Amino acid sequence: MKAITFHGVSDVRATDVADPKLVEATDVIVRITTSAVCGSDLHQYHGRGGGALVQTGAIMGHEFMGGIEEAGAAVRGVRTGDRVVVPFSVSCGQCTWCRRRLPTQCTTTGRAVFGGRFGHVWGGGQAERIRVPFADHLCEKVPAELSDDDALFLGDILSTGYVCAENGGIRPGDTVAVFGAGPVGLLALQSAQLFGPARVFAVDRVDYRLALAAELGAEPVSLDRGDPAEQLRALTGGHGPDVALECVGHETPFTQAIQAVRPGGTVSSVGVYVETSMGFPAREAFFKGLTLKMGICNARNYMTPLLPLVQRKKLQPARIVTHTLPLKDAPRGYAIFDAKQDRAIKVMLKP
Ligand SMILES: [Zn+2]
Ligand SMILES: [Zn+2]
Repeated sequence: MKAITFHGVSDVRATDVADPKLVEATDVIVRITTSAVCGSDLHQYHGRGGGALVQTGAIMGHEFMGGIEEAGAAVRGVRTGDRVVVPFSVSCGQCTWCRRRLPTQCTTTGRAVFGGRFGHVWGGGQAERIRVPFADHLCEKVPAELSDDDALFLGDILSTGYVCAENGGIRPGDTVAVFGAGPVGLLALQSAQLFGPARVFAVDRVDYRLALAAELGAEPVSLDRGDPAEQLRALTGGHGPDVALECVGHETPFTQAIQAVRPGGTVSSVGVYVETSMGFPAREAFFKGLTLKMGICNARNYMTPLLPLVQRKKLQPARIVTHTLPLKDAPRGYAIFDAKQDRAIKVMLKP
């Protein structure tokens, strides 16, 4: 089959690889209908994040969905022909951490990610087919009326954006600032609106991303116009927003979020940090009495409850899709997403 494989920094290629096969009786093989390039794929693409590179030849991608082509003998909850979406992290559903609803900490799989290099390596979803283990636990059935573009992000960036908003503890009438108007930030923005804020601001440098944030109901704050903390205070009667949602994963926006938010406010962070450790204004956070929350999203927990919100269009994740390319053109998809060319926000891949 065709798959997008890693060959070095800024070098992914469409190559021919062996078809995946059922290994355990609890596996399924999914024939992929749509996958996508995620911001965290770019960390691998650039060889960032510490430790070794992704193995040469490894299949990239952790956002994918499709139809079940083959099911192991012990699979009960789904069957051949079912349309499913799967979370980015590989988890068993049975171990200590899975039972505590922390599937990203799964000890059975070693905190693995599809297409990732952390822990045990599982093939990625930028391919024609993929082996999905623990199928009864990982597969979420997708109703026929939901498009791939609306369903796909349940497995990663929509759940992540939602968790960011939920962790912000937004109350009706609050002001919310979203740092980063990329795919996760735009979905955090949509999610924040479910909690009834009076105003939502979107902070970014890229004009066309701020323009989409504005279409989605946010007031744009451009980093090109100076310190975002100062701009946000000026826009909120000198107080600063009640809640800041950090969706970049870098020391600078995390620091800016702490500086911007009002005394007693909350900073919620879901960006995947490149840094293994970083400085932040701890003293300011302490004396302002801030609540800081961060972490990888346990997406499996959110797919089932968020699906009806997408069905009823309370969340419209497909609005961030800007490009749909054939799978074989994924190298160009990575390049334009990485360079923010051609007004790229979210690049979808179709085998
Ligand atoms: Zn991702
Ligand atoms: Zn587990």
